[in-house]
Amino acid sequence: MSLDADLEGLDLLALGAHPDDVEVHVGGILALASDRGLKAAILDLTSGDLGTRGTAETRRAEAQEAARILGVPRLVLDFPDGRFTEEESYRLRLMAEVRRLRPRVMIIPPPDDRHPDHRRAHRLAREAAYYAGLKQ
Ligand SMILES: [Zn+2]
Repeated sequence: MSLDADLEGLDLLALGAHPDDVEVHVGGILALASDRGLKAAILDLTSGDLGTRGTAETRRAEAQEAARILGVPRLVLDFPDGRFTEEESYRLRLMAEVRRLRPRVMIIPPPDDRHPDHRRAHRLAREAAYYAGLKQ
């Protein structure tokens, strides 16, 4: 079974705008879910390519290592950091991923946050989750 096929039908999907968002906010929940045998995963909308600490390659490697330590797989949609929008093209890509993974529970960023990407990620995730449940 491929890794992708193994990800379908998740118990828990934690979504963040950037690598490290999920670990900072709900890393403990993911570690606990993994420890209890639940199928959980991290989905980053961007690779954090605008980050000012380290290179994009370093951030990507560190993010994968963090997911390994938490015991969950990590997926990255590679939306442009700081430049993704709420346009339909982004919503459709996220919606397709939600439909593929079929999470029972999604953890998404809070609606109010200082970082504009976090606020947009909340709205995109909320809409994608809703539309993913509708007829195709
Ligand atoms: Zn962030």
